[in-house]
Amino acid sequence: MTQKSAYSQQPQRCWLFFRLVTFTLGSLLLASGGFPPMTRGAEASMDERSYPLPSRLEAVLEPQGTVEDYFDQISPSPQGYLLWSSWPVLVYLEPSQASSGSALAQRQAVWQNQAEGAIADWSRYLHLEITDDKAQANIVILRKQPPLRWEKGKISRARHAETRFRIIRDRDADGQSCLRHQQTVYVGDRQGPQQLRGTLRHELGHALGLWGHSPNPGDALYAGQIADPPEISQSDLNTLGKLYGQPTLLGCLG
Ligand SMILES: [Zn+2]
Repeated sequence: MTQKSAYSQQPQRCWLFFRLVTFTLGSLLLASGGFPPMTRGAEASMDERSYPLPSRLEAVLEPQGTVEDYFDQISPSPQGYLLWSSWPVLVYLEPSQASSGSALAQRQAVWQNQAEGAIADWSRYLHLEITDDKAQANIVILRKQPPLRWEKGKISRARHAETRFRIIRDRDADGQSCLRHQQTVYVGDRQGPQQLRGTLRHELGHALGLWGHSPNPGDALYAGQIADPPEISQSDLNTLGKLYGQPTLLGCLG
C-alpha cells in the first residue's frame, strides 16, 4: 500500500510577480526567500546519492574550463537539489474546458500550444513526456493564476506565474522506499503567445530543478522582464549540467 506524506510546499517567485510589485522589492523577496528550517528526521533513513547525467544533457555541455553558469544562484531544498532521477519525467497539462469556437477556447488553445512548445524546448535536453494522468505526473502545469497567499500580514498581489513543489515519501512498484518531489506550475492564459512561451519555458526550468534565477538577460531563467523572451541558453544548460551532477536525498533506494 502506498503511503504518502507531504513535507513541504514552496513557491518559486518570478519576474511576472516582480513586475507587479517592483523589481527591487521582488529581488528582496527572492533574497529573503529560501527554505524554512525542516526536520531531517523524516529522511534520516535515506542517503544522499548521485545519478548519471541525462544523456541528452551530457551531449550538449561545454568542455570543462570553458563553462559559464549561474549554479551559485540555485538553491537546494532541505532534501537536496530538486533534480529528477527517473526518466521520462511525466508532465500533465490542464486540458481546455471551453466550448470549441469560443474566444475562451481560442485563448486556451494558444496556451496549450505554447505549453507543448515549452515542453518540446526542454525535451531536447531532458527526456519529458506529456501524460493525461494527472495523478501520475511529476510536473503538473495548470492554466491558472497562482493562488493568493498571506504574506507579511496581508494578502499577496495577483501574479501571472509561479512554481511550487512538495516532497512525498512513498514506495515504488518494487517496494523500495522513495523520497519524491512533485512540481506544480501555475501560468495563466492572459499573455500573448510569445510572452506565454517564455513564461512557460522559464517556469518549466524551475520545475526541472533550476530553483533560482540567472543574472543574465540572455538566459531563460533570467528573473527580469524581457520583451523578446530568450531561448534556453548554453549557460542554462551548463547550470542544469552542474545541478544534475549533485548528490541529493531525492529518489528511491535500491
Ligand atoms: Zn522564476
